[in-house]
Amino acid sequence: MEREIHLDPTFKMARQQFDTVADMLEIHDGERDQLILPKRAISISIPIHREDGSITVFQGYRVQHHLALGPTKGGTRFTPSLTLGESAALAVWMSWKCALASLPYGGAKGGVAVDPRSLTSVELQRISRRYMLEMIPFVGPQTDIMGPDLGTNEQIMAWFMDAYSSHSGKSVAEIVTGKPAALGGCAGRREATGRGVTFLVERAFSHMQINPQGRTAIVQGFGNVGSVTACGLAYRTGMKIIGISDQAVAIYNPKGIDVAMADRYAAEHNKSLAGFSGGEVIDPEELLTLPCDVLIPAAIERVITASNAGKLQCRILAEAANGPTTPEADAILDQRREEIFIIPDILCNVGGVVVSYFEWVQDMQNFLWTNTEVVDRLCRILESAFSAVVRRAKERGISHRNSALSIGIERVQAAKRLRGLFP
Ligand code: NAD
Repeated sequence: MEREIHLDPTFKMARQQFDTVADMLEIHDGERDQLILPKRAISISIPIHREDGSITVFQGYRVQHHLALGPTKGGTRFTPSLTLGESAALAVWMSWKCALASLPYGGAKGGVAVDPRSLTSVELQRISRRYMLEMIPFVGPQTDIMGPDLGTNEQIMAWFMDAYSSHSGKSVAEIVTGKPAALGGCAGRREATGRGVTFLVERAFSHMQINPQGRTAIVQGFGNVGSVTACGLAYRTGMKIIGISDQAVAIYNPKGIDVAMADRYAAEHNKSLAGFSGGEVIDPEELLTLPCDVLIPAAIERVITASNAGKLQCRILAEAANGPTTPEADAILDQRREEIFIIPDILCNVGGVVVSYFEWVQDMQNFLWTNTEVVDRLCRILESAFSAVVRRAKERGISHRNSALSIGIERVQAAKRLRGLFP
């Protein structure tokens, strides 16, 4: 199992990023392994009855990275290519991210290797419930709390909560975050990640003393995070969204895309932009290298690589997705530090887990905060994380990524050292 994790390209990337920062922080070998290796890696099989009467067994995972700061917390993805190694990499990033925002969590991640669009809604519900059922021995409100991620949504979180609660004999809302509001979901959770990305892009502009009004943005991925970010930047910040894409298609319109219309179109067409007429259809790879003020990868890992990093023509790279930039691309972008301001993933998309934390706290106290309270508290945490990252980068002459990672890693290291190693 350990070999499977170490061979995975996304885990290799998380390890490489960690080693760079560990060199900087002069962390010795034994402590490195203690910091990076996942505490628990769970692999399960999920058999379900298909609607045609057959049985299919799907593969599911959950990785809990470290337990030094509290329970683990992290998303659940339903994507066909999910592996244990990818789950481990995402759990590790989640740990540094939670620590950067001073949240009392270790990182976790997992999900099912399945394309949710290939299932009927009955089958999707069966997989969701069975996944949670198999995970019951390993998760809990004080052990590991799940949330949404690629390919999952509020409805799936509701099924997770119901499956866990049925087993417990009482409602346990705090077992998952990202639930519908009617089940104890937090005001603004669905929009939280995209809202955070919008706030941080505005903050980067103000840091560079540039007025964002009328500036252009390109967004890769038009799901929860991408669509909320595109709408926030267009209607709140006053920017022009000139490119959007999803798994099916990439669309370019230099005059600006009506992103509210694109959002409605995707909602009515099985979450796909295929056939949307708001611009010219172009090569998805080309979309990333077109001139724009802000480029926002908001889909999957490893899309900014050694082959396109030198060609990016943006002023700000806002990493809404987890792990969109490979270490090889990072080395190239580091040479372009004066040209491109990077908002690294563990900072850029932290808004999601911050509001998930609010949801967990509210559910445990049977308490409700208003949307205004949630947004206000979120923005204060984002502001403090942004300032800390930019300040350390400047003081130490390091990249924003290494600054953000080093803050997160140091906090986990401090917690582990204080708790000590027994025996
Ligand atoms: P989602 O499933 O709602 O949307 C994903 C979007 O990406 C879809 O439009 C899909 O078609 C598109 N996509 C998939 N493969 C693509 C490809 N090869 N090229 C272009 N587009 C592609 O997922 P989401 O929740 O919006 O998550 C997006 C990213 O943000 C992921 O990296 C996720 O880990 C990260 N993230 C999400 C949250 C959250 O709260 N949902 C929080 C933090 C980070």
